[in-house]
Amino acid sequence: MVYETGNRTIDDALERVLAGETLDRTDGLALIAQPVEPLVEAGAVVRDHFGDGTVDVCSIVNAKAGDCAEDCGFCAQSVHFDTGIETYDFIGPEAVLEAATRAEADGAQRFGIVVAERGVSKEHRPEEWDEVIEAIRLVREECDLEIDASLGILTEEEAEILVEGGINHYNHNIETSPNYFPAVVGTHDFEDRVRTLEVAKEAGMDLCAGVILGMGESPTDRVDAAIALQEIGVSSLPVNVLNPIAGTELGVERPEITTGEIVKTVAVYRLVHPEARVRLTGGREANLAPDEQHLPLEAGADGLLTGNYLSTEGQTPGEDIEIVERAGLEPNREVNDFDSEAVKARGREEPVEPAVGSVESTASVESGDD
Ligand code: SF4
Repeated sequence: MVYETGNRTIDDALERVLAGETLDRTDGLALIAQPVEPLVEAGAVVRDHFGDGTVDVCSIVNAKAGDCAEDCGFCAQSVHFDTGIETYDFIGPEAVLEAATRAEADGAQRFGIVVAERGVSKEHRPEEWDEVIEAIRLVREECDLEIDASLGILTEEEAEILVEGGINHYNHNIETSPNYFPAVVGTHDFEDRVRTLEVAKEAGMDLCAGVILGMGESPTDRVDAAIALQEIGVSSLPVNVLNPIAGTELGVERPEITTGEIVKTVAVYRLVHPEARVRLTGGREANLAPDEQHLPLEAGADGLLTGNYLSTEGQTPGEDIEIVERAGLEPNREVNDFDSEAVKARGREEPVEPAVGSVESTASVESGDD
């Protein structure tokens, strides 16, 4: 049966997606101009058709914070901005393992090791590189988790070492469209980011790469970013929403992105990337009310970065599971078969404490954004 939302543009796109066709930029631009309700319906249909009804939960550790030489305008960890965040060197393999163990207990399927800098360099910082590799080995040995690395720009040699070490996924967000990128980042190019993703893919890693919404980009930029990610080929598409940090270039007052725009963009991304995990990541707590957080999941998102790493005001992993359930879905248990009820009960009993390597909410940390 052909599913119909009653909107001809959406129904035509939906029919083609369900038939296995890939939507292009023209389709994306037509879709993002449509009303939100039928887009949400279509996004849910695509998710149900291509997915397994689960939401994949991941967690990250910010294993080195601050003092990054790059100038990404949204990022509290850049040396170009005075944000007063706590900075620290690589926390060490044991501390990474501690964070991974906690993530596993909280129901994460994937665990991301994030290092805030242009690139962890085997050549220029061999000691830090060796520690990262040792941390990966420990997590691989001790935990049932897929491991994601977010280590910045990579060489081919480094990518091969990561694959041999057991890294399944590489995170490197493109942030926004190729056109809008220079308005946000001055010290490196969009193409630098694409090159690293290509290097990681060539070495055998799946790609986790996405965007930050609400940085002043247009709906066209949102579509162009999704099309760029289609060309790169990603299996996980994190959707961050800017949480403006005072002191950063984008920490100033700006028109807020609306809930409708966030939900609509998620639905369009679902249709343009039917087989990727569209993952809600940083900034959702800051931009969506508690009773709105399930809406992007209803629109087709099927991944979630759980907020247990935040030191204040963060949601517990149990609250995140409740959001998943409110959307009529259930958490993925493919890699880590955990007990949802125990996680929820723990969240009610224990205050949210900072995880090792946790920092205050920043767009870059929440997205694993190096
Ligand atoms: S997003 Fe990553 S590369 Fe950019 S300033 Fe922040 S830590 Fe550095």
